Amino acid sequence: MKGVSILGATGSIGRNALEVVRGFPDRLRVVALSAGDNVELLAEQVARFRPAVVSVASPAGAEALARLVDLRGIRCRHGESGMTEVAVAEGAEIVVAAAVGAVGLTPTYRALQAGRDVALANKEAMVIAGELMTQEAKARGARILPIDSEHCALHQCLDGRDPSSVARLWLTASGGPFRTRDPRTFDRITVEEALAHPTWRMGRKITIDSATLMNKALEIIEARHLFDVPGERVDVVVHPQSVVHSIAQFKDGTMLAQLGRTDMRIPIQYALTHPDVLDSPLEPMDLKEAFLLQFEPPNHDAFPSLGLAKQALARGGTAPAAMNAANEVAVQAFLDGRIRFPAITDAVGHAIAVDSASEATSLGDVLAADARARDRARTFLGLRN
Ligand code: MG
Repeated sequence: MKGVSILGATGSIGRNALEVVRGFPDRLRVVALSAGDNVELLAEQVARFRPAVVSVASPAGAEALARLVDLRGIRCRHGESGMTEVAVAEGAEIVVAAAVGAVGLTPTYRALQAGRDVALANKEAMVIAGELMTQEAKARGARILPIDSEHCALHQCLDGRDPSSVARLWLTASGGPFRTRDPRTFDRITVEEALAHPTWRMGRKITIDSATLMNKALEIIEARHLFDVPGERVDVVVHPQSVVHSIAQFKDGTMLAQLGRTDMRIPIQYALTHPDVLDSPLEPMDLKEAFLLQFEPPNHDAFPSLGLAKQALARGGTAPAAMNAANEVAVQAFLDGRIRFPAITDAVGHAIAVDSASEATSLGDVLAADARARDRARTFLGLRN
């Protein structure tokens, strides 16, 4: 029985992860769960899975949870320290890191420090502190198994091959809802339009990131760290059908791609059961029916995010952390109706340009850079009042 802890249990990835666990009752069991403010759903999950530890965002949330579900025999915690307790809970062999944004960094890092394997959906953690995370994993013999569909695909295509054999990693991008929209109208994009993703059903933050292609920009940095391949060798190709999840191109000219349905339960199952390959409850793709796969280069003028990721990687140090922080602030401001769509990438470009790109040798370094960049982004976007 493999014990599983989940950070971000009530989000889209967390809910799917619990469904995967439920599908393998003789192999997987829930040890600990953390969530933010969705106490009602967490209460249902606690009642069903009876974890040993549970954590929510605030003390008020913890009290609300205690009113909704019997917590006898369960340790109930809150805040970042509570999340960390979930991350290092006794009996958890693998931690699903599915919190959204920088908030998931410290608990995920602590999980690796404690030698736990991490099933990583929280790509922001890898963007902010990729080197620290991969170093820690190596030092403790912990594995980082990507849940992000593109990186899960690449993990399969690379299958442990040496990074020096890789010529290029191609991350596929759906192109988002504005792939064919006239960029001159981008300042009129509404929140509803940006939340209507053509191929994937996901949480709000990642859906906006997909509309700006910032999601793919974050994924470039994530891939650079996960697979130890220089940023210059990570590229993006637009593939509107989202059937090919990514492609590894090797020095001998061979290209390996991974294909599958657009359902996050597939990469989650892969990560939780790796290296075993088990039956999926999902209907398999059927190649007896005709369908077309299309690939095209991204439009860098309309979507500056990809170039910004390359800039942040080239600057190095704390620059990727600044990039991520500004994006988190700007996405929230866009969702709140306070800024226009193009201002998101403007803020990110500004954050990379003004960050000192100083060395990131500790979690403290990157968290300080994160805080500075949030502050600057709020000023840049006029969010002070
Ligand atoms: Mg992805």
